[in-house]
Amino acid sequence: MYLYNSASHKKELFVPNNPDIVKMYTCGPTVYHYAHIGNLRSYIMEDILEKYLRYTGYNVKRVMNITDVGHLTSDADEGEDKMLKGAKREHKSVMEIAKFYTDAFFSDAGKLNIKTPDVVEPATNCIDEYIKIISKLMDTGYAYFAGGNVYFDTSKLDRYYVFNDFNAEDLAEGVREGVEADENKRNKNDFVLWFTKSKFEDQALKWDSPWGVGYPGWHIECSGISMKHLGEDLDIHCGGIDNAFPHHTNEIAQSEAYLGHKWCNWWMHVLHLNTNSGKMSKSKGEFLTVSLLEEKGYDPLAYRLFCLQSHYRKSLVFSWENLDNAQVTYNKLIAKIATLKPEDGEIDQAAVEALKAKFCTALDNDLNTSLAVTALYDVLKYKTNDATKLFVLDDFDRVLSLSLLEKAAAKREELKKQAVSADSFSIVSESGESDPEVEAKIQARQEAKKAKNYAEADRIRNELKEQGIELTDIPHGATWKRI
Ligand code: AMP
Ligand code: ZN
Repeated sequence: MYLYNSASHKKELFVPNNPDIVKMYTCGPTVYHYAHIGNLRSYIMEDILEKYLRYTGYNVKRVMNITDVGHLTSDADEGEDKMLKGAKREHKSVMEIAKFYTDAFFSDAGKLNIKTPDVVEPATNCIDEYIKIISKLMDTGYAYFAGGNVYFDTSKLDRYYVFNDFNAEDLAEGVREGVEADENKRNKNDFVLWFTKSKFEDQALKWDSPWGVGYPGWHIECSGISMKHLGEDLDIHCGGIDNAFPHHTNEIAQSEAYLGHKWCNWWMHVLHLNTNSGKMSKSKGEFLTVSLLEEKGYDPLAYRLFCLQSHYRKSLVFSWENLDNAQVTYNKLIAKIATLKPEDGEIDQAAVEALKAKFCTALDNDLNTSLAVTALYDVLKYKTNDATKLFVLDDFDRVLSLSLLEKAAAKREELKKQAVSADSFSIVSESGESDPEVEAKIQARQEAKKAKNYAEADRIRNELKEQGIELTDIPHGATWKRI
């Protein structure tokens, strides 16, 4: 499998350090609010990566943090603590907020068929890990104490900007409008490892440390949690593109300074979901959540399909119109699968291998999910029996996770019930389209059959066939498709 590595700026053949297990780390949510569907795009694509690795035979140990302390409103350690902001907004304690939004995150992720990582670790559980790392960084001169906080000294590194060759002056601007510069920093990009003094004395959660009572910075969390569960090396680290700088850059700085060797081999960054007015955010405009999609009548899995139709290294524009299209595509796909008959034939191994090869070629090429979705249509068109088609679709869905067979079975049941309850004759197009002229002819054929005028019924069937329409009789109805 070839996977793009943000650290080398190229696609590289993926080889884990240890062939028996892939060690994967994902930056988790900051649980001060609901995740927006932009955040969830990143988690969907990371889910695809994990599932495809498993699909190809790897064991994977995947770890994710839950940020419940230390993430300030600016990623460069300025501004208010996001958790405290959430607690004030809702007149609750920080821990109540963390619990509520952690649960909400996993509920939303579940609706999108995102698997929960093997280890999910709240940042507040690992204070000792951070203290151990920071103590060594202090001892070896990579960290310094100033104005009550412990900072990482970025000037001690030969190469700080690992993901790009930005002009240091352009990027060094951690300070945003309306946020004052931190006078204690020796270098602009130095970052806080441990706070004892922040501008906000009402910081809710604090712990004792060799540098005073305080709390960890956001970046140290991911290094500490990763090392606690995955040891001194890591195969793949993922996150949204905004995490590349400063968050991941700082993670690498502190981890490698602490370990004295290379830490992580692959960096996977998912580009943003944007709206027409720019980057999606929790504070601006309509706050797009999974619940909002549901309220508007969308299936969350139509959003998953929408994400899979584009490549994770391209930014994606969200609009209701785009989501409508994805929902229609999803419905048609399910309707087509619903017409396949599970009992039709034995599994045809040659067909399975041929179809799988195409699917894997797509995903082996830096997770080309849009081609992997196309491979679903190849299955539907392939000259083989329905049992084989269903088997392969189910197999691909181990990675794509669109609940294809489950939804198709529900659709089949729904059609059956409709037909029986109305004691009527249901006419269903396999593509989901409607065509009054075709439907009228099928109805006329049904009338002819009822009147035992089989010659007329056959004539109508042939007439439809000449028009390129193929009929299949089902209990209490008929399905049709264009051939
Ligand atoms: P946060 O909860 O803010 O720490 O972000 C959770 C994850 O979502 C991180 O991996 C971010 O990089 C990612 N993320 C944030 N905004 C977007 C967006 N608009 N599109 C895709 N991913 C995003
Ligand atoms: Zn992180």
